[in-house]
Formats: sequence, C-alpha cells, structure tokens
Amino acid sequence: MAVVIDGKEAAASVITAVTGASASLERETGVKPGLAVVIVGDDPASHAYVSSKSKMAKQCGFKSIQHSLPEETTQETLEKLVSELNADPSIHGILVQLPLPKHLNAEPVILSISPNKDVDGLHVVNAGKIATGDLETGLISCTPAGAMLLVNRIHGRDLSGLNAVVIGRSNLFGKPMGLLLLAANATVTMAHSKTKDLGSVCRNADILVAAVGRPQMVKADWVKPGATVIDVGINRVAAPDKGEGKTRLVGDVAYAEAAEVAGAITPVPGGVGPMTIAMLMANTVIAAYRTAGKTAPSF
Ligand code: NAP
Repeated sequence: MAVVIDGKEAAASVITAVTGASASLERETGVKPGLAVVIVGDDPASHAYVSSKSKMAKQCGFKSIQHSLPEETTQETLEKLVSELNADPSIHGILVQLPLPKHLNAEPVILSISPNKDVDGLHVVNAGKIATGDLETGLISCTPAGAMLLVNRIHGRDLSGLNAVVIGRSNLFGKPMGLLLLAANATVTMAHSKTKDLGSVCRNADILVAAVGRPQMVKADWVKPGATVIDVGINRVAAPDKGEGKTRLVGDVAYAEAAEVAGAITPVPGGVGPMTIAMLMANTVIAAYRTAGKTAPSF
C-alpha cells in the first residue's frame, strides 16, 4: 500500500513557520504582515473559503481585513477597491475570491492587483516569472506551490531523471504546476482533454498530478507501480451509503484502487487542499518581508 501524504500535517508545519516569520518581522521592523480578502456576492462556498482564510491570517499574527461587497457591485467599484488596497502600506497581500459573479470580468481585476501584492500568484507578471524560471522574485500560485511541497517531501527538491505528468492545463493550477516540476528538473508532460490515450501517458509518470475536476477519473491501471500520485481534484458526489441526500468529497483519482499501486498518494480531503491556504499565508509573509527590504524566508 502507498504511503499516504499527509497534507494537513504539512500545512500545519508551513503555518508554524509562517507564524514564526511574521513574529520576527514585526519584532525586527515593526511591520505586521497584512492580508486583504475581497469577496463579491453571496456564494456560500466562497464565503466559507474566505472566512477560513481570514481566520488563518489572524492565527498567523497578520493584520487581516475582509471586504464583502454586494452581488450588484460594478467592475469599476471592485477595481477602485483594489487600487485603494494597492496604495495601502499596511496591506501586503490582496486576494480577490474567484469566481466572481457573472457580470464581472475577473481578468482585468487580477491585472489591477499590484504584482507585489498578488498573493494568489495569478497576475501575468507572476505567471511570467515562473514561465521564465524566476522562482525567487515573484509570488507563486498557492495550490501548485503547495502541491510541490508535497512532491518534495517524497522526492526531495531535485527531480532529475523523473517523468512527471500533469493532467489539466489551467492557468490556476496545471500550467504553473508543470513549470514548477520542470524547474525542479523533472521531464514534464502536460495532458488535457485533447490528449490521446491518456492512460498510457499516465503510466509513464513517476509523479502523476491530476487536476481535472472529474471524480475518480484516474484508475489504478493508469498508475505506474511505485509512482507518487498528487490528487488536486475536489469533487462533491452523492453518497447514498451515508444517508439520503448526503454527499462526500472525492478527488480526480480512484483513491482506494490507486493506493494499491502507487508508492505515495495524497488523500481527498486532507491532501493538497490544506496546502493552498498555508501557501497563501506563506506568500503574504514573503510579500511583507520584501516590502520591509528583508530577505524573504522560503517554505
Ligand atoms: P479547470 O480550469 O476546469 O481545468 C481542468 C483541466 O482538465 C483542463 O485543462 C481540461 O482540459 C482538463 N480536462 C477536462 N476533462 C479532461 C479529460 N477527460 N481528460 C483529460 N483532461 C481533461 O480546472 P482547475 O481550476 O485546474 O481545477 C481542477 C480541479 O482541481 C478541480 O476539481 C478543482 O476543484 C481542483 N482545485 C483544487 C484546489 C485546491 O485544492 N485548493 C485548487 C484549485 C483547483 P482542456 O484545457 O483541454 O479543456
């Protein structure tokens, strides 16, 4: 059976390090890291994400502010708020919770965030830095950064000689994940909906990362024996065994059968999920160190 990669434990150790780094920065320079989270509309899942981010920021010793804007907020109002936060010296990280209501266009909002405060790592400047191999001066998208930490726990930081396959090519996850694996010297294949014979592509992977959004798509016979499997998918499916109308979260990997073949595997929930919020806190403290002219810690 595969080693289960414990994302909760890995995330807790990042949070401990971030809390320590935040306290030292404040002690040495008087700068308290500040995170502003902006949410538009009433989506209950987004509100739950945002309140856990704000709560975690407080736990890390940050100044944590939340702007909850009504559903009917205009593009102009949202971008004006972002520009005020860009100008606020007590705020080092700005996160606009996605998805935005349908009448709003996310792209210009993301581009309006100062790249130095773009703790989600979605601004084209930060995406471009990863693409050009600069992992030092930008901010890296939180979920791929967290998934890489889990890969590093199994394989170390140098992935020379290993084949990695990432299923999914989104700007949010698949593309930056592929680039981070490449920067760590893995030989990377990025697969997607147009890939032919995905199973045989996956069977070549020493590191298989699934970020698709299709419940339990990756079966055991797609997994190379001994491979490391990182499951990024979060899918809510019916769970009639738990009672009528009940649901459960599953990943993009058929966990039970894949765990019999893999060498190491992340569970869902409790794998990549907790890493995202931990890396958001890490990015905020990194941004605050840079603003204070100090060398940022690495996590
Ligand atoms: P996305 O933007 O919808 O991208 C999905 C990708 O999967 C696309 O590149 C798509 O290919 C590919 N795809 C779809 N069907 C496929 C198929 N049958 N075979 C191969 N590839 C296929 O999704 P995302 O934002 O990257 O998220 C992916 C999953 O990760 C979701 O379940 C999401 O909830 C989860 N997620 C979790 C976290 C977290 O843990 N915190 C963060 C982000 C995302 P094309 O490009 O060809 O359409």
